[in-house]
Amino acid sequence: CGIVGYIGKRDVAPLLLEGLQRLEYRGYDSAGIVVNSPKAAALKMVKAKGRVRELEARVPKRFAGTTGIAHTRWATHGAPSDINSHPHLDPENKVAVVHNGIVDNAAELRAKLEADGVVFASETDTEVITHLIARSQAETLEEKVRDALKLIEGTYGIAVMHADFNDRIVVARNGSPVVLGIGEKEMFVASDVAALISHTRQVVTLDDGEMATLKADDFRTYTTSGTRTTATPETVEWEA
Ligand code: GLU
Repeated sequence: CGIVGYIGKRDVAPLLLEGLQRLEYRGYDSAGIVVNSPKAAALKMVKAKGRVRELEARVPKRFAGTTGIAHTRWATHGAPSDINSHPHLDPENKVAVVHNGIVDNAAELRAKLEADGVVFASETDTEVITHLIARSQAETLEEKVRDALKLIEGTYGIAVMHADFNDRIVVARNGSPVVLGIGEKEMFVASDVAALISHTRQVVTLDDGEMATLKADDFRTYTTSGTRTTATPETVEWEA
């Protein structure tokens, strides 16, 4: 339902929780957040069924990070629960995915992965995306995500973090909005400009079939087949 992400120098958790609150008007049944910092090797995650306030109450005091993605979920596959909330991590806690939309061929992909020995933690369609990215043999995170998306049928706005590629967030869009917010040595992503407008007015709206890599001081956009696209930030006017 709602996505917010950030990469930069600020403490990310309060920033993302505030962003999620700005998306509350859209409705949701659960929420979650994952953060990382350049020096840390492991991702830190908290999820909760219910309101963003309940998620916030569960975030530990020491939850430092300067990169993160967060989500409010409107369940389509699997009941609202702590475990079915996003982000979805792989068993090694390397890959984290938040997803808006519906993977139409999730049941088929899940059966194939399970036959291969993959153990699922949740009932969601989204978790297949996580495992497909984690199992890709490609070298870059962008290629891993692309490999996974080739197998996915359905709609998605996704944001992906990977503990081995902690200088970036990779995002993709097909039928579910993804907006980049361009800051000064910091970048934002959201499913709705409402979540990032208090931080920057420079936005890039992804098209269907487009992906982007966000680094703290740089961003680039390209198609799901890897061809660079031009993205000139637009200034949005908005009454906060
Ligand atoms: N289909 C996914 C799920 O049920 C994402 C739902 C959403 O867009 O929030 O977990």
